[in-house]
Amino acid sequence: MMRTVTGHTRVVGVWGHPVGHSRSPVMHNAALAALGLDWVYTAFDVPPARLPDAVAGVRGLGLVGVNVTVPLKELLPPLLDTLSDEARRIGSVNTIVNQDGLLHGDSTDGAGFLRALAEAGCPPLFGQRALLLGAGGSARAVAFALAGQGCEVVVANRTGEKAPALADAICDCYKGRASAAVWGEDAGPVDLVVNATSLGLSPHADAMPALPPHLFDARPFVYDLIYNPGETRLLQTAREAGCPVSNGLGMLVWQGALSLSLWTGLPLSQMPVAAMLGAVSPAPTKRPVLDEPE
Ligand code: NDP
Repeated sequence: MMRTVTGHTRVVGVWGHPVGHSRSPVMHNAALAALGLDWVYTAFDVPPARLPDAVAGVRGLGLVGVNVTVPLKELLPPLLDTLSDEARRIGSVNTIVNQDGLLHGDSTDGAGFLRALAEAGCPPLFGQRALLLGAGGSARAVAFALAGQGCEVVVANRTGEKAPALADAICDCYKGRASAAVWGEDAGPVDLVVNATSLGLSPHADAMPALPPHLFDARPFVYDLIYNPGETRLLQTAREAGCPVSNGLGMLVWQGALSLSLWTGLPLSQMPVAAMLGAVSPAPTKRPVLDEPE
């Protein structure tokens, strides 16, 4: 449904570089329509060097708030007025809330991940052992979220020194709940595997993280933060090995719903999650029309 932009319409949006691939505008505009808000959500390509200007623009233009994606999340904390405990802990912001000119930074990635994981049917995390592939911005959010639930996190990353650095940061907060493993080498038995690398992301859908031998023997739950393609090679391999699997669509929706809740001040339970999911879900494959048997 086409909405009319008026003189009163307020603006929210997403910043990234590049940002044209983002599904957030489609998802959030569906949510704004469902809530009946006279707001519009749009994408802005913000190169890192322009980030301070963009932040000043939020104040100057009175934007409601902003989502932030690669590669800006970790650059934002020093540019904002206040940070949530979560954003400070993980050193990353994915949501700016404009509180009458005071810019507050938060991160909804970890909480969105946990909601999506539970909804996908992953067993309770307390006492579980997880292998986390990746040590970038979203891996940090996921790692702290898992450790906060009492899960032991083993971090493996291509660039070797980033995995122990992330494990150390988690242990500073949650003693003994993290360690580092060598990329592609045996990390011992795990209950959960999370891919937080960009390996397998469209248009490089053939790529796949280096997997330790015997990783799927105990049928761990496998969650891939990637949702495009809907089934990465990692998820396909895990599914064929008999593991329960999920892609990252649920995380996209829940981190977005949590951001929208922060901007509107409405409880999460009032966020139109079904409309958001519907807006970003791939259209069902059309079945071929078969001739009726005579
Ligand atoms: P970052 O750029 O911060 O991190 C990228 C990670 O991928 C790093 O660990 C990097 O390793 C690794 N990596 C990249 N290329 C390779 C390669 N060729 N071989 C091995 N490792 C590689 O990105 P983000 O953390 O923000 O995003 C990671 C993924 O998560 C993306 O696919 C993104 O789309 C997805 N995502 C999904 C969300 C959702 O809502 N579902 C939310 C946020 C992200 P190294 O350190 O060695 O460079």
